[in-house]
Parts: sequence; C-alpha cells; structure tokens
Amino acid sequence: QAWPGGDGMTYEELQTILLQTPNEVEARKSSEYYTAGPHLAGKNLSQALWTKEKWEDYGVKSSIVSYDVYLNYPLDHRLALLEVDSGRTGVDLATPRHKIRYECSLEEDVLDQDQTTALSDRIPTFHGYSASGNVTAPYVYVNFGTYHDFEDLLAANVSLAGSIAIAKYGHVFRGLKVKRAQELGMVGMVMYTDPQEDGEMTVANGYQAYPEGPARNPSSVQRGTAQYISVLPGDPTTPGIPSKPGSPRVDPHKSIPSIPSLPISYRDALPLLKALNGYGPNASHFNKYWQGGGLTHEGVYYNIGPSPDSLVLNLMSAQEYITTPVWNVIGVINGSIPDEAIILGNHRDAWIAGGAGDPNSGSAAFNEVIRAFSVAMQAGWKPLRTLVFASWDGEEYGLLGSTEWVEEYLPWLSAGSVAYLNVDVGSVGPKLEAAASPLLTKAILEAAGLVPSPNQTVQGQTVLDTWDKRIRTMGSGSDFTAFQDFAGIPSLDLGFKGAPNSPVYHYHSNYDSFHWMDKFGDNQWHYHITIAKLWALIAMDLCETPVLSLNTTNYALALSSYLEGVKEKAKRSTISEDSAFSFKFLDHATSELQAAATKFDTYTADLTRRLSKPVPWWQWWKTVKLLYEVRKANTKYKLWERQFLYPGGLDDRPWFKHVVFAPGRWTGYSGATYPGLGESFEDGNVTNAVRWGEIIVERLEAARKLLEE
Ligand code: GLU
Ligand code: CA
Ligand code: ZN
Ligand code: ZN
Repeated sequence: QAWPGGDGMTYEELQTILLQTPNEVEARKSSEYYTAGPHLAGKNLSQALWTKEKWEDYGVKSSIVSYDVYLNYPLDHRLALLEVDSGRTGVDLATPRHKIRYECSLEEDVLDQDQTTALSDRIPTFHGYSASGNVTAPYVYVNFGTYHDFEDLLAANVSLAGSIAIAKYGHVFRGLKVKRAQELGMVGMVMYTDPQEDGEMTVANGYQAYPEGPARNPSSVQRGTAQYISVLPGDPTTPGIPSKPGSPRVDPHKSIPSIPSLPISYRDALPLLKALNGYGPNASHFNKYWQGGGLTHEGVYYNIGPSPDSLVLNLMSAQEYITTPVWNVIGVINGSIPDEAIILGNHRDAWIAGGAGDPNSGSAAFNEVIRAFSVAMQAGWKPLRTLVFASWDGEEYGLLGSTEWVEEYLPWLSAGSVAYLNVDVGSVGPKLEAAASPLLTKAILEAAGLVPSPNQTVQGQTVLDTWDKRIRTMGSGSDFTAFQDFAGIPSLDLGFKGAPNSPVYHYHSNYDSFHWMDKFGDNQWHYHITIAKLWALIAMDLCETPVLSLNTTNYALALSSYLEGVKEKAKRSTISEDSAFSFKFLDHATSELQAAATKFDTYTADLTRRLSKPVPWWQWWKTVKLLYEVRKANTKYKLWERQFLYPGGLDDRPWFKHVVFAPGRWTGYSGATYPGLGESFEDGNVTNAVRWGEIIVERLEAARKLLEE
C-alpha cells in the first residue's frame, strides 16, 4: 500500500493480536480488583491510581485529570407507612398521633455467599442529586411515572398535588419521573423495581431468588441519580464549562430535583402497595401501560389511591451537598496523524462496592483492549491515528467526568477527533445491544463480522451472525452524551445485556457483585473478552484504515427516515397542513444531501482502490497527489457530524447542540431524532416548527457543502 505510517506490521497481523490477546483470566482479575471497592464518585482515587499504573505498565502514557464537582452523599433516610391513631381522644385530637404500620428497612440483605454484600462501608440506598426533605402525606401509585402516566392520572382526576408518588422503575429515566411529579406539585417520590421487569426469571414463575437462583433478590434496590438527564448532564453548577477550581457556578436547581426521593426494594414496596388495595381506581381500568405488575400473586391489586388521609407515608431523606474532586484517567498512544484521534471510554465509578456489571464488566474489558494494543506496540506496531483511552469518574451522578472533560477539551476535540467509542455495562448477558451515530454503522458491522460469537449454534459463527443487527439512535444515559450531543463527535455505545430468560441483573444494587458475575452473569467470562475484541477491532478499523472507515450514505439515509418520523408527528399535531410550515425545503435538502453523500462515499471507495494499486517509483508524484486527496477526504469525514451542531442549542435545554440527536425530553435514555422540530409539532407551536425547519435546512446544506467543496 502506498501509505506511510501505521508501520510495524500488516493490518492482518494487528487484527490477529487484537483478537488473540484478550483473555478470560486477565479480565476476571481486573474485575476482582475493581469490584472490591471503593467506587463512589469522588471516593475512588485508589482505583484511579491503580488504573493509571496498569495502563502505564502496558506502555501507555497516562495522567489523572480532575474536576471539582457539586454532588451529594447520603446522611440519613426513613420511609414508613403511618396510620392515624383514631383511638386518641380529648386534647390529642388537635394533634393526631400516627402509629407505624410498616417501617421500610431501606437495606439490602447481607448474604453469606456474597462477601460484597457484607462490606462494612457499603453504600446506603439513595438517589444522586435528590433533595433533602422530610414529608408526611397520602400517596398515589403512578405506574412507571412517565409523562404519559401522569397525563392519564390527571385525566382521571386523581389528585396529585401534596401527595407522595410511588412509581415503578422502568421505561424512562428515573430523574424525569421526579421532575414531572415535582412539576405537578407532588412532595416526594418512592421508586421500586417491580418483578414484572424481570422477564421469565421471577419467583412467581418458580425460580429461586439470588443467591440461590437467577431471580431478583426481593431486598435488592436500584440506586441511581435523579438529575434531569435530558436537560443537562455534567456538573449542574457549571453548564458548558469545565468545573475547575475557581470556575463560576450557577444555581443547579434547573437540572436537579427539589423534592426528596428514595429507591426501595419490592419487599419494602409490598406493604405500601397492599395498603392501597380498594382505594381509588384500579390500574387495570387504564390503558395497557397500566396493566400487569409482578406482585399480584403477593396480594397487590394495583389500586392507584390516593391513600385516605388516615394512611400516610413519612419520607425523610438527608443529603450532604459538597463540591469535591473526581478523577478521570486519560491514556494516550500517539499516532503519526495527531489530529485524527479515536477516543475510547468507560466509567469507573459505581453506586455500590461491587459494580461487576456496571461499570466494571466494561472496565475489565477495557484493560484487555489496552493490553492488546500494548502487545501490538511491543511487536513493533505504531498506530496511524492517535488513540485516547478514558476511565471516567462520576458517570453515575450525571456523566460528570466525561462531560467536564469534553467541555474542557472542546477546541481540541472539535478539530482533532474522529469518533468516541463507549462501553459502559459491557457484559451482563448474551444479547448485544448497540447505539451509534449512523456514520459508524459500517465500522461496527465490519468488526462484528470478525469476532467469534460466544453463543454459536453453528461452529464458526461471528458476533454478527448471532446478532439482530439492530443499531439504535443515540439517546443518553452514559458517557457518550457530551461527545455526541455537545461536541458533534460520532459516537457509539456497546454492551452485552440480558435476554428475557437470562438471570436477573441487579442493576445499581449490592448484588451487582463479583459473585453474581462469576456465578450467573458471565460465569465463563467469555462475554467480557468478546466485548473487548469487538471494541478493539472497531478502534483498529478507525485508527488504521488509510481512508477513514466512516460512511455518510448511511447517515443521509437515516436522516430521511428521521424526517419521515417527524412527518408522522406532524400528522398527529394540532398544526394544520395549510399552516406556514412546509416540508418542501427539508425534503429538498435531504435528497440533495443524499446524492452528495453517495457520491462522496463512492469517491472515497475509489481512493482506497487507487491506494492499493502499486505505483512505479518514478511516478512518485502520483502517490503524493493521492495522499493529499486522502487527507482532504478524511478531513471531510472527520468534520461531517460537527455540521449538525446548532450553537443556540435546543429549546429550554441549550446545552444540547445537535439538531439530529438528543435524549427524548421525557424519556432520557432513548433518543429523539430532530428533537427541535419534533417537539415543536408535539407542542403545536407553528412558529417554532418554521424556525426549526430553517435551522435544520441550513445544517443539511452545510453538511452537503462540506462534501462538495
Ligand atoms: N448511567 C447512569 C444512570 O442511568 C447515569 C445517567 C445520567 O445521569 O446521565 O443512572
Ligand atoms: Ca461543566
Ligand atoms: Zn454505567
Ligand atoms: Zn450505572
């Protein structure tokens, strides 16, 4: 090949090293280290230093980059079901006394088989960024607490203001449940995971609970942050700028709750739900999203309430808010092209001592990826492009470490980054889940076709063969968010997750432990090394292929399907068809962009073909000209996604700059496409629809011009 740099070995040799180096024993060792804690954001310096040292042993120059972030640690909590003691007479009538009907334990059981559950410094059950408070009020069962669930409750005239909500986890991001409850005047929220979330693996279906079996342990609790993910990630006091000592700070309350919330187990939820039996409408009378519930066999009718005034919840949560350092570890392997960097990242912090799945299945795989590149370097390989490795802190509270880092290095990232490859939960089951910018579809599929699948039904099957090949759009919920939505860097997120018949993954619970992983989650550790190989191969493809392995045709095709999605919204909207809004310009710009993209990808495929043809040495100038063309084409690929950034950002959440991708404003985890325009139709705001139409057309034209210039 007429390509300088990327020297030391052939593409095939490098590929072989990356496929053969990651191994189960090493991954298991990393997991064993990480899952022995301490993990919480701002409390895991020892793990940051250990990670840095390990990477340096592998020959990767590494440093610790720290930020001073605002966050909370739990001090105290209480949740009790109280009954008004009506037997009291006389003077006491003026101050009705409550008697305790049920005191929630708010603790996960200590299990003999699982040492992590017995650690003395285990972390209490609480919500990140939740408010301190002490409220006593009647309560209402709000289903999943989605925006639509609350709309249904309002439509049924269930009184919400002044009450406490009890919500099931699931469907949407937890912080957005609290946000909506607060907007509707509710004074607190309690969340539990209903066994209906657990597929077939339930106690009701006859499976034993962890640690004896694969079903959910009834005492398990999902911790997690309650920040408003779709409004602002990162330190809530420094939107858009890095949290350095001395950075100016704003009032955080636009993006974190002011009512208290607590996560509880289904065992603690049972008496509260049963006490609602017979009060208010039954959930089964609502639409299908209200039906079901995994505790009917325990005697829960799923009545909505509210509970009578004589039956109230006391919810108390005391949080300490401080500004404290968090520590990212950043490792770099310099390539011969310094301004085309590929960044790989995984978070290191967890809600619990264990964190074997979240995040350390990713962290253990990450160390194997870095070790594999290190083996290649020792064998003489020198990368063509620069590789950056990031072990993020503070992800759990709200993507703190990654967001602050992107905010700090934005100028460098804008000019010099090609892609960001994220793995959070790497392996807790057999089902590969992927989300990505469409620019990366090609690289993902190519790499998946080279990695052996751990669940082969026919010998020799690759990950691609055993995968549904579904690649979702980027929403939020992990560290890719600032890269994709704030900096316009094509990103992906990969991980092997549970299938409906997999052992229950105890997300954000003490039972996401090394013991669970070793016994149930990935007992052969095969999925750990499979995600490592997949991650390494995608990175290699992007790092080493002379013409960047990105594809604008896929992106342009995706854009036209997103536009169709908006048209559907428009049909359902109150904006009439003969309004000032027209899809004409968007349609036109989309099809022009599609033509330009197809032409450009065809041209770059031809560049690759020309590069592989030998050129006689005396025609060296032909090679020089060709290399110049490749460099120019790669720059266009690199800057393509940046064209979709709109500096003004989205309405009411200006930190989000991407006009194509954002977390759904009321979903959080799952993504919205063309959010500004789609929301204008949802809101029936024609002026805004016209405005967003113009903004998008301008961005589509910029993307087209970049390819054509
Ligand atoms: N991954 C964490 C969670 O789902 C944090 C997400 C976020 O705040 O963006 O709870
Ligand atoms: Ca910030
Ligand atoms: Zn995670
Ligand atoms: Zn998490």
